[in-house]
Amino acid sequence: MLEIKTIDESPAASDYIFIFVKDNAVISLQRPPDQFWLRGEVEGAFGDVGVGAPLGYWAGRPSYAIEVDAQCLNVMEHMSGSLYSLFGRVSDVIFAAYGRALQMLAWQRDHQFCGRCGTLTAPTDGGKALACVDCGHSAYPRLNPCVIVAVGRGEQLLLATAAGRATGFHSTLAGFIEPGESAEQAVIREVQEEVGIGVNNVRYFTSQPWPFPSQLMLGFFADHSDGEIVIDPTEIAHADWYGRDDLPTVPPPQSIAGQLIHHFFATR
Ligand SMILES: [Zn+2]
Repeated sequence: MLEIKTIDESPAASDYIFIFVKDNAVISLQRPPDQFWLRGEVEGAFGDVGVGAPLGYWAGRPSYAIEVDAQCLNVMEHMSGSLYSLFGRVSDVIFAAYGRALQMLAWQRDHQFCGRCGTLTAPTDGGKALACVDCGHSAYPRLNPCVIVAVGRGEQLLLATAAGRATGFHSTLAGFIEPGESAEQAVIREVQEEVGIGVNNVRYFTSQPWPFPSQLMLGFFADHSDGEIVIDPTEIAHADWYGRDDLPTVPPPQSIAGQLIHHFFATR
């Protein structure tokens, strides 16, 4: 897996490189997905690509993310696709590494200029931050914490489809944590807002990085306490209680939603 730590050596031809064209990961069609590019190969194929965004170490080797020009890609040798298209197709550790790579690239791209005074920024703190060369204001990669919650009522689980997003799944409810709010408070508020019911007994399950684009999903279970389902149609297209034997199509087990749903019924 990708070991997240500061790279304390100079860029070298033997560095591992995760390549992207805009937000699309580039996968070689001629080698397995865990045989990453080497910096020397990338420079041979694409010319000067810069140092890239530092990721940490893969198998003891410094690793970086680099964006290349689509016009330089040989389509006979490479395939580029959204990060989501890799989900479930490569191992979890490779997916997590690509997820970090995409987020670090996006952070570098979006913080080239100081948000406070507009001057150029430069890497600082071992590449972990970008700091303004004038006023010193620094920006670290931003994560957006979200709660995702499986609400139970006896043997039944609340599942919903999101408005305006045709995922084909019935899933657990999720939402961003607001400034000044605890994760548990966000669970109670999101459920109330989206489906109009009260919950209690909120308990933490596990977490998952969700790089679409930069969420950290915090998974919870909660129990229905009061009220009937009244959906907010701007957020939810359909919501209902489901038992183990009448489950609709749910998210895959690689996702935290899939894990919450599986765990709910496995412990009933
Ligand atoms: Zn500044």
